[in-house]
Amino acid sequence: MSELYFDYAATTPIDDRVVADMLVHMGQRAFGNPASTSHQHGQHARQAVEQARGQVAALIGAQANQVVWTSGATESNNLALKGVFAKAPAGRRHLVTSCIEHKAVIDSVRQLEQQGVEVTWLRPGADGLIHPEAVADALRDDTLLVSLMLVNNELGTLTDIRRIGERVRERGALFHVDAAQATGKVAIDLSSLAVDLMSISAHKTYGPKGIGALYVGDRARAQVEAQIHGGGHEQGLRSGTLATHQIVGMGSAYALAGAEMVEESARIQALSNRLRDAMLALPGVALNGDPAQRIPHTLNFSIDRFAFSPAVFSGRLALSSTSACNSASNAPSHVLLALGLNPMLANQSVRISFGRFTTNEDVDQAIEVLRQVLA
Ligand SMILES: *Cc1c(COP(=O)(O)O)cnc(C)c1O
Repeated sequence: MSELYFDYAATTPIDDRVVADMLVHMGQRAFGNPASTSHQHGQHARQAVEQARGQVAALIGAQANQVVWTSGATESNNLALKGVFAKAPAGRRHLVTSCIEHKAVIDSVRQLEQQGVEVTWLRPGADGLIHPEAVADALRDDTLLVSLMLVNNELGTLTDIRRIGERVRERGALFHVDAAQATGKVAIDLSSLAVDLMSISAHKTYGPKGIGALYVGDRARAQVEAQIHGGGHEQGLRSGTLATHQIVGMGSAYALAGAEMVEESARIQALSNRLRDAMLALPGVALNGDPAQRIPHTLNFSIDRFAFSPAVFSGRLALSSTSACNSASNAPSHVLLALGLNPMLANQSVRISFGRFTTNEDVDQAIEVLRQVLA
């Protein structure tokens, strides 16, 4: 394929080292059910699952028993939001979130809204940030849960979850964070954060698709109700036979991410800065989202020019004209509209995201294509 891949925020390839670890747990040599601990086949699988749990916990500063396996961050978000409101104590039916969340949060919250949950939808400023003061102002005595993402999937902007968490805890509410775009890109230490629930996924961090986890902190433990029943796996929070090879892949991917994050981020920062500067030198191009409070891995530009369409890049640059979850609907990005972009400009925006396998030459070629199209 000659198309250059700049869509790491949509998904990443599984690292070959992760594939190798997964293969050890497929086929006739290793297939036991991790719940069948009365024999060696099952024990072997259980051991692999628990090793991976430790690897995932280590990347986010959690304890292994606080990690609950799910099918991905979509399910984790559903479990956190619906699970907490299923157990809402009387008189606590208020939720705070923002209108720039991932659709897995927005659609779950809309579902809760229909069931009578009162929701405060925070709007970002033009910088795309949800500020701690705005969250503090929205908190009420009956607020049960606050849900915000750590890294925005469309913009790459960072939320100050440390300060927000402190404010939320002061008021006795729970704090859920969608960190699907953050693992392996920014350091996360849940042992020092006032975060109660955190959604994570493997496939945004060089692991397989179809596996993720929900961190359930000790304060939240008794306040979440399972959404999938049948056997009581995962401390009763999520039933279903564990997908050993997927789980091993997530553990392996997270261990690699932890080992390589500092070096990898520095390398990507340099690539990202170079492409950003080249883009901003072109007429009509502007960066969406705060220029400083962000990760370098994801850039979003609006291109203000007559009849420009991101479709001109197809076949040459694999980038995203809106988040992958939105592109099915073809509507302008809800995130860019919330920043104040008009619908036309929101449709004339592109997300360019970098990752582990992006080379210097890839960036050279991408800049060349961008210049040809836009200069
Ligand atoms: C990709 C993503 C999700 C969904 O994760 P899956 O594992 O694909 O279900 C949720 N939230 C954010 C911010 C994401 O980027």
